Parts: sequence; structure tokens; C-alpha cells
Amino acid sequence: MLIFKKSRQLRDHLSLKKQKARSIGFAPTMGALHKGHLSLIEAAKKENDITVTSIFVNPTQFNDKKDFEKYPVTIDEDIRQLELAGTDILFLPSVEEIYPAGTTLSQSYDLGFLETVLEGKFRPGHFQGVCQVVERLLLLVEPDHLYLGQKDYQQCMVINRLISLMKKEDSIKLKICPTLREQDGLAMSSRNMRLSASERQIATSIYQSLSLIKNNLKPGDLSLLKQTAINLLQENGFRIDYVEITDAGSLQPVSNWDGKQKLVALCAAFLNEVRLIDNLLLN
Ligand code: AMP
Repeated sequence: MLIFKKSRQLRDHLSLKKQKARSIGFAPTMGALHKGHLSLIEAAKKENDITVTSIFVNPTQFNDKKDFEKYPVTIDEDIRQLELAGTDILFLPSVEEIYPAGTTLSQSYDLGFLETVLEGKFRPGHFQGVCQVVERLLLLVEPDHLYLGQKDYQQCMVINRLISLMKKEDSIKLKICPTLREQDGLAMSSRNMRLSASERQIATSIYQSLSLIKNNLKPGDLSLLKQTAINLLQENGFRIDYVEITDAGSLQPVSNWDGKQKLVALCAAFLNEVRLIDNLLLN
């Protein structure tokens, strides 16, 4: 595996490679890698000649300074796992390398309704920061295929929109990979490392409450079902940002289901200091 810390080196290397390679697959990450991340790399390896991943804890997408400061960093172990997974190239830039002109956004991204709900509502500025870093990375790597996890459902939609705003729909194809889970259903996440042993046991309630919605879904009013899921989390000591049942394509809330519309249930909740998110497609 080649490791590049400088954008220039990465770009020079890729432009040489591109003359021969049929396709480049790219999976951006913030490190503290787990099997969920590695599943993106596995998918990229299967479908491309060159697999590129990046590790960059992007300061501009953290609306909470403490969350940024406490974000787990396990770079030596990450490199070992990426080697084992057969990644061709790791891009490991510094903040200065990604933002040579400083981190202030020069323009804002028009994300419309997407930015007003769920993660957009509870983490102001978060998706602007996500677009800022992903745009920079896409311009550098110029991938044919971009690998993202369904775990960050709304982020996939935001990045899809970013690709349209960049007018790159014809050259970058989004590949959304399923959420990998622990045996008890907890979605794998770098933030899980911050849970204590007892919090880790309780954390599975997020999956249970989403599964409760999925398993009891019936046409008609969904408010009682949603409230039951909320109660389950509250009884387990979660502080809830949201539990929502929405249209799977638009994220518009659905309170009365016609039995046909494609739905997704999404949740974000704090267990003490750690904020966890998850989602399930319902039908
Ligand atoms: P992160 O390092 O959290 O920014 O995640 C990097 C990429 O890995 C994103 O596209 C995530 O959606 C994806 N990802 C994170 N957790 C999982 C998971 N449990 N299963 C599949 N993909 C994941």
C-alpha cells in the first residue's frame, strides 16, 4: 500500500496510474477503522483496478468541539488493517493540506430541504463541512466509483446532491454499501469505542427500537409506533435527538402510511456523552 500525505503526490501518482487503470474506487473515512469501513474497501476492490481510501478527521464537519477532540484516532492499527484488506493507496493528509487557504467556507452548498431535517437540523453546519471535505477529496482523487455506507443514510443523499452540484453525475457513480452490525445488532461505528462496557450493552437498544418499528409496521397512523420506539430508548437512558419515520427517497416525514410508500426509520440519540445514529429501511 502506498501512503501519500501530500495532495500533490497523490494527484501525480493517480494521473500516471489513470493512463492504464480502467477505474478508481474511493472510500473516504475518518479512521478508527472497523469492519464496516473495510466492507467498503472490499466492494471497491471487487469493482475497480485501483482502490483509494482516505483517513482525515475533518474539523469543519464537527459542530461540537468536544466530539472532535474525543474522536478516536488509531492510525497504526488502521494502516495495518488497510494493508490486510489490500487497499492500493491511502491518502493521509493534514488539515493544512486539505485546507491550504484555511477552513472557512468560501461558498455554501445549496442542499435544500435535506439540510433542514434530522442530522441537518440537530448538527447545524455539519453537512456544509461534509460537502467541503468531500468536494476537495473528489477533485483530488477523481474516482469513477465512490463508496459510502448506508449507516450514514442522510449523508449518502447529501453527497449525491453534492455530485450534482459539482456536475459530476456522469463521471462519479455512488455505491451505497449495507450497514455492518455487531452480533447484537449495534451498527458498527468508530464512536462505539467511546462506550463503557455497560453503555455498550445498552447501545443495542437503538437497533431494537428501529427493529420494533420495522416489525410492527402497518398502514395507517404511525404515531403510536414511533412513540413506542422513543419510549424504549428513553427507558434505557438515551437522550434522543430524533426518531423519525420518513419517505426513503426524500426524507419527508410520514405520519400516515398508505402501505406502499418506501419508508426508512432513522434515529440519533446520546448515551451519556456519545451520540449514536442508525437507520433501517422498513419495506
Ligand atoms: P466515517 O469514518 O464514520 O466517516 O465513515 C466512513 C464511511 O464508512 C462512511 O461512508 C460511512 O457511512 C461508512 N460506514 C461507517 N460505519 C459503517 C457500517 N457499520 N457499515 C457500513 N459502512 C459504514
